[in-house]
Amino acid sequence: MTTMTPTDWLRAHPQVRTIRVAASDLNGQPRGKRIPTRFAGKVVEEGTRFPLSALNLDIWGEDIDDSPLVFETGDADGVLRPTERGFMPMPWLSAPTGLLPIWMFHEDGRPFDGDPRHALARVVERYKARGLTPVAAVELEFFLIDDSGKSLQVPISPRSGKRRKAAEVLSIRALDAFDEFFTDLYDACEEMDIPADTAISEAGLGQFEINLMHQDDALRAADDAWLFKMLVKGMARRHGFAASFMAKPYEDYAGSGLHVHFSVLDRDGNNIFDDGGPKGSDALRHAIAGCLKAMPDSMLIFAPHANSYDRLVPENHAPTGIAWAYENRTAAIRVPAGNPAARRIEHRVAGGDVNPYLHLAAVLGAALTGIEDGEEPPAPITGNAYALDLPQVPNTWAEAIDAFDRSERMKRIFAPMLIQNLLLTKRQEMHYMAELTPQEQVEIYLDTV
Ligand code: GLU
Ligand code: MG
Ligand code: MG
Repeated sequence: MTTMTPTDWLRAHPQVRTIRVAASDLNGQPRGKRIPTRFAGKVVEEGTRFPLSALNLDIWGEDIDDSPLVFETGDADGVLRPTERGFMPMPWLSAPTGLLPIWMFHEDGRPFDGDPRHALARVVERYKARGLTPVAAVELEFFLIDDSGKSLQVPISPRSGKRRKAAEVLSIRALDAFDEFFTDLYDACEEMDIPADTAISEAGLGQFEINLMHQDDALRAADDAWLFKMLVKGMARRHGFAASFMAKPYEDYAGSGLHVHFSVLDRDGNNIFDDGGPKGSDALRHAIAGCLKAMPDSMLIFAPHANSYDRLVPENHAPTGIAWAYENRTAAIRVPAGNPAARRIEHRVAGGDVNPYLHLAAVLGAALTGIEDGEEPPAPITGNAYALDLPQVPNTWAEAIDAFDRSERMKRIFAPMLIQNLLLTKRQEMHYMAELTPQEQVEIYLDTV
């Protein structure tokens, strides 16, 4: 973690002539400004301003037609202040530039509830109030693509030009084909203090996965994921191609997920999911029950776009049924095997297109509800989840929007402002998407999410 204050960082990097301030909007897109470095001190001290509504735009960056933010407040400004993370470089740009992540407050200092980072902070506060600390590690899958939107495939036989449709999972050949990109990417992670762990080639051609190390600060874990998505897209551009975290860009290949592994520590730093036994503790079961019960209602967070629902089909390691299991990748909730001290939940539902802040807020918030209420899950499944008769996750966007709208559980997790604005943005996006062909939809999502 960077120990430098923003002022010290600027002093240590005199070559930096401009900075970016950026916050996450509801779709996870970075929104902010380019500011000459001579004004950076003022931003650090006083923050910067832009309309409250700017974090609650639709996927195209359009105002929400019925948003009370725009019409009842006269589109008032919020104050954006630096997060604890401070400055970091943006190694994918040619000019030395400092990136300062920011988040939004009202004029009087209250957090702005429409900011997804505050949504997560709220959940973390609820854990803290009980003396608990969630620990989270995020895994991100993405495709490397060319400008026409095709995935960057490594021909198996260059002379015949034939391309395989078969699984490319864990292929060293595919990793090596992009070694310059991965070398630059890992160097950039070091510079930005993003704790990147293993990279693998995933099942789809041109699809990769990188895991980030766990953090005992959930806000930091979400920051890492959000910054990492920005970095991967930027670095791909620098190498002359592009990267997409879209959930299901190609019908023929598995989609891209964004899984999170999490556990919870008590005041003494002990993992409450571990009771020394092979099955895990009561708290583990309660957390799983909370996650399963909230799953239909929070699907809109995990699958936020029209395309997200194409990923949730059988036989692709993406969940379709609401179930949990030990060491089973066909289940939505997997409890990995291994050292009991590291007993944790892998929540496998979200696509790569998820907003990392809302994702962790929904997952950790759901688990906490289960823990608070001592909920009990059904028995764990065994075998192939796709072959079992299980309650299904909402498999259309409209169903997910309605489930989120009706949910009492979501009200325990999210502020009314966030619920209302997410519903408005998603309904607007759905309305516009309905006018587009599937190909046009792919073009919109490929580079934005
Ligand atoms: N690509 C799969 C998904 O859509 C996940 C594969 C895996 O288990 O890593 O979630
Ligand atoms: Mg994977
Ligand atoms: Mg995983």
